[in-house]
Parts: sequence; C-alpha cells; structure tokens
Amino acid sequence: MKTINSVAEMQAFSNSVRKDDRTIALVPTMGALHEGHLSLMRAAREMGDVLIASVFVNPTQFGPNEDYKAYVRDTEGDMRKMEASGVDVAFLPHAEEIYPPGFETYVEVEELQKPLCGRFRPGHFKGVATVVLKLFNIVKPHAAVFGQKDYQQLLVIKKMVRDLNVETEVVGMPIVREESGLAMSSRNAYLSGEEREKAVSLSRSLREIKKGFDGGETDTQTLVMRGQEILSRASVADIDYLEIRDGSTLEDKESASPGDVAALAVRIGKARLIDNIVL
Ligand code: AMP
Repeated sequence: MKTINSVAEMQAFSNSVRKDDRTIALVPTMGALHEGHLSLMRAAREMGDVLIASVFVNPTQFGPNEDYKAYVRDTEGDMRKMEASGVDVAFLPHAEEIYPPGFETYVEVEELQKPLCGRFRPGHFKGVATVVLKLFNIVKPHAAVFGQKDYQQLLVIKKMVRDLNVETEVVGMPIVREESGLAMSSRNAYLSGEEREKAVSLSRSLREIKKGFDGGETDTQTLVMRGQEILSRASVADIDYLEIRDGSTLEDKESASPGDVAALAVRIGKARLIDNIVL
C-alpha cells in the first residue's frame, strides 16, 4: 500500500491512473477505522481498478464546541486495516494543505442540510459537502462509497454531485452493527461499559418503529412515541431528535410510507450518536 500526503502528488497519481484507462474507487473516512469503514473498502475494492481510502479529520464539519480536538486518531491501526482491506493508496492529507490561509470557498446543499442533524450542528453539512467535493477534485474517483449510517450525509453528497455535475458515482452501503445492534461508530470509543448498554436502546427504538410500521401503523407521531418509550426506559434522556422523514427529500411526514427513514441523534455521556432505519 502506498501512502500519499500531498495534494499535488495525489492528483498526479490519479491523473496517471486515468491516463492508463484505469478506474478509481474512493472511500473517504475520518479514521479510527472499524468494521463499518472496512465494509465500505471491501465493497469499493470491486468498483475500481485502484482503491484509494482517505483519512482526514475535517475541521470545517465540526462546530466550535464539538469534539474535533478529542476525535479518536489511530494512524498506525488505520494503516494496518486499510492494507488488509485491499487499499492501494492511503491518502492522508494535512489540514493546512486542504485549508490553506485565505481559504473561503464552500459548497452548501441548501434544503437537505436543514433538518435532522443540520438543526443541531449548524455548518456541519457545509463542511462535509465542501471537503467531499475537494476530495473528489483531488482523487478524481469514478466511484465513491459512503455508509447509510450517515443517512443525511449520503443524500447531501448525492444531491451535490447531481447539482454540480460531478462525474463520480456515489454509492451507499448498509449500516454495520455490533451483535447488540449498536451501529458501529468511531465515537463509540467515548462510551463507558454502562453507556454502551444504554446505547443499545437506539437501534432497539428504531426497530420498534419499524415493527409498528410493518404491523400497519402509519401515524408518524404514534410510531415516534413508541420509539421514544424505548429510549426513556433505557434512561436515554438527551435526545436531539427522533423523527420519521421522507427517505429522499427528508421532508416531514404525518403518515409514514415505505422508503421513509426513521432517524435519531442522542447524547450519551461524551458521545453524540446517530442511527437510522429505512421503513
Ligand atoms: P466517518 O469516518 O465517521 O466520517 O465515516 C466514514 C464513512 O464510513 C462514512 O461514509 C460513514 O457513513 C461510513 N460509516 C461509518 N460507520 C459506519 C457503519 N457502522 N456502517 C457503515 N458505514 C459506516
């Protein structure tokens, strides 16, 4: 596996791959890699001749009081896992090169960024869309793979690519969970044993909503209440949101239909955790 840190070197490498008529697949990550990330890499391995994975903790997608500084970093472990997952090039750019002095150009997906996490993390999706477009311009991938764990992020990126005529195919992959149902996340590392047990209620709450829907209930308020009950029984009290929205537009729904998404974000201890389920 080759490691590239410089933007110019990455662009030159990708140009030479494309010149040889070979295709590039990209998996962007913020590192602290777990099985969720690795599932994307294994899938992406099949989508291009050259597999590039990036590790970049993107400062512009963190709010001033968020965990940018504390975010888990494990370069050595990440390198080992990427190599074992068939990655050809690990792209680890430096923040000063991605955001040089005087940087002032951002991308915003105006409507899709507003609900759910956008309400609680102002500027987050602007940071995400901007860094992903920059990564696409640097790595020039034919295909890029993202997890459905970050459901709103996936929609934002797909919309950006469509609206700005970016020639990269954006592929979403299913959420990888622990046996308990807890969605894998780099932020699970913040949880104590007790908090981890509490966190199991997130996926249980979403499954309860899906069970209700599968059983014929369509009133979103009733469904959400059923999910909330599971969270409150587990003493998960700090809930940013638990909502059912249209699976493509994220519009509010009174009556749920297939393809809608139930999504939540809660705070447990130091961690802000998200999860979702498609109805
Ligand atoms: P992150 O490093 O958290 O920015 O995540 C990088 C990519 O991995 C994103 O596309 C995430 O959606 C994806 N990802 C994170 N956790 C999971 C998971 N449990 N299952 C599937 N994909 C995931």
